[in-house]
Amino acid sequence: MRTVAAVDLDRTLIYSVPDGHGPVPPLLCVEELDGRPHSFMTIRAAGLLERVRAQAVLVPTTTRTLAQYARVRIPGGMPAFAVTSNGGRLVVDGAVDHGWSRAVEARIAGSGVPLAEVVAGVTRQAAGPWVLGRRVADDLFCYLVVDLAELPRSFLPAWTSWCAARGWVVSVQGRRIYALPRGLTKEAALTEVVTRAGADRLLAAGDGALDAGFLTLADAAIRPAHGELADAGWFRPHVRVTTSAGVLAGEEISRWLAVEVARRE
Ligand SMILES: [Mg+2]
Repeated sequence: MRTVAAVDLDRTLIYSVPDGHGPVPPLLCVEELDGRPHSFMTIRAAGLLERVRAQAVLVPTTTRTLAQYARVRIPGGMPAFAVTSNGGRLVVDGAVDHGWSRAVEARIAGSGVPLAEVVAGVTRQAAGPWVLGRRVADDLFCYLVVDLAELPRSFLPAWTSWCAARGWVVSVQGRRIYALPRGLTKEAALTEVVTRAGADRLLAAGDGALDAGFLTLADAAIRPAHGELADAGWFRPHVRVTTSAGVLAGEEISRWLAVEVARRE
């Protein structure tokens, strides 16, 4: 039997800026955007991750779209499985599983109002110079890119309750404010991966509210000391919290995973 190690990417495994406290160790660039280095992990974290991959099925589990995920170079090469689009897409050996996409689309059609209605809602409600961009992700959900310093205090509570009344959930990840159908979850896709991989154990790591479901589902998990879950004071008995923050928390997470997968052997 096997272990699945499900890991969120942004601000869990990879970091757009080296924002930890104290000296920053040597970094490996794992993503370029517009020809410039964009995301990093420590070189030590990359080595640890390769150790994890020797003993477990590493599953990147991200809200990134397929195209955004495809830019990331995971140390050790392309994983056999990846969950993208917050569970809306399953990538198996580099190809999208269309059967999974159709099943998800059918499920979310019953869980809330259509995407077009939410896009119209956000266009009406989010206006002003603090809105830097509006995006639709893989025809599944949408998000705003905002200037956090200028974000009106009233927007998030109003937008969250407007979405909740329509079967959608809101999550804030850095400068991005996501709105997703309630039925679109990482944990549903991961449950499918665990079955397909023939695994009997799930380890998990994530920093955001959208990760809480699969952290809860895991046999053992870890979250960084920063992020949306940390801000919310989210704790579970089986979910460890890193001692460091920023890119060093990413290294601590890789080390924890390496120790946990070896414990199994
Ligand atoms: Mg994250």
